[in-house]
Amino acid sequence: MTSVASSTPVLGSASPALSPSPTPWTLATAREVYDAPFNDLLFRAHTIHRAHFDPNRVQLSKLLNIKSGGCPEDCGYCSQSAHNPTGLKASKLMEVDEVLAQARTAKAGGATRFCMGAAWRSPKDRDLATLTAMVEGVKALGLETCMTLGMLSPSQAEGLAAAGLDYYNHNIDTSDRFYGEIVTTRRFADRLETLGHVRAAGIKVCCGGILGMGEAADDRIDMLVTLASLDEAPESVPINMLIPIPGSKLAEAAPVDPFAFIRIVALARIMMPKSHVRLTAGRAAMSDEMQALCFFAGANSIFIGDTLLTAANPGDDRDSSLLHRLGMTAEVMGEAG
Ligand code: SF4
Repeated sequence: MTSVASSTPVLGSASPALSPSPTPWTLATAREVYDAPFNDLLFRAHTIHRAHFDPNRVQLSKLLNIKSGGCPEDCGYCSQSAHNPTGLKASKLMEVDEVLAQARTAKAGGATRFCMGAAWRSPKDRDLATLTAMVEGVKALGLETCMTLGMLSPSQAEGLAAAGLDYYNHNIDTSDRFYGEIVTTRRFADRLETLGHVRAAGIKVCCGGILGMGEAADDRIDMLVTLASLDEAPESVPINMLIPIPGSKLAEAAPVDPFAFIRIVALARIMMPKSHVRLTAGRAAMSDEMQALCFFAGANSIFIGDTLLTAANPGDDRDSSLLHRLGMTAEVMGEAG
């Protein structure tokens, strides 16, 4: 018979939720928070979450692939890289009208933000007129806009900002140390440079990473240290769980321990208290219970719809049912940070 006496909790000990956050964050200080007992870590993250957000609200975004496949970058996780023989056909940039039709559908489905992604190393200046027309059209529907188009020059960022682009997504994916294991066609520093151009243009930043690419816990934590140490933390921090794509370099990657994933969500919430932390790719493979724990740990944004660029997403029915069972509701326009 197991004795419970030996594990009697120490009642009245100082609440870990009240420990001040060290600034600036370092790998060592962040690692200490990450390594706390699971309940202490979640309690601390949830307490911070409640101080900054309604814990029962989730922001809904919809992602549309406006130009798929044939990307010259060699990101090991991506189905759209020309270096990964995934069988995905490359498409041309979508027409503006088609994008706006999809945006109307997304709005009717409850989305408050419409994200448009193109599989490019960087946009060509000749595409800017089409891209800005998309931004203006989606904004006119009353939706927030987000784009992810690869690396931007300062003038491209300024052009998108002038059209009213609210957010730009540009993930750093992992730590500086591990980056070269996943992508060789650009450097970690290139990502930071584009993030700087986006900030300088006055566009909000959406930037996060992917768990499950063979990186160590320290790489995941260091990625968050980089994000939290930017002059201004990203307003939106997507945390992806790798979807191993057949044909990609990471097709055989080992799955992430769900508790390790939840710990990173909690750490992101603690280190970037005012940011929206988004559960992004990989949700279709998560149990409802795992997602619920992620929400408790501070995740408060998801993509809706049954596809995410080229991969499966849970779909509106499963999401509505989950949010209903958890007593959670969608953010309305104007609530998002
Ligand atoms: S830059 Fe984007 S679209 Fe291109 S391979 Fe990397 S993740 Fe995929």
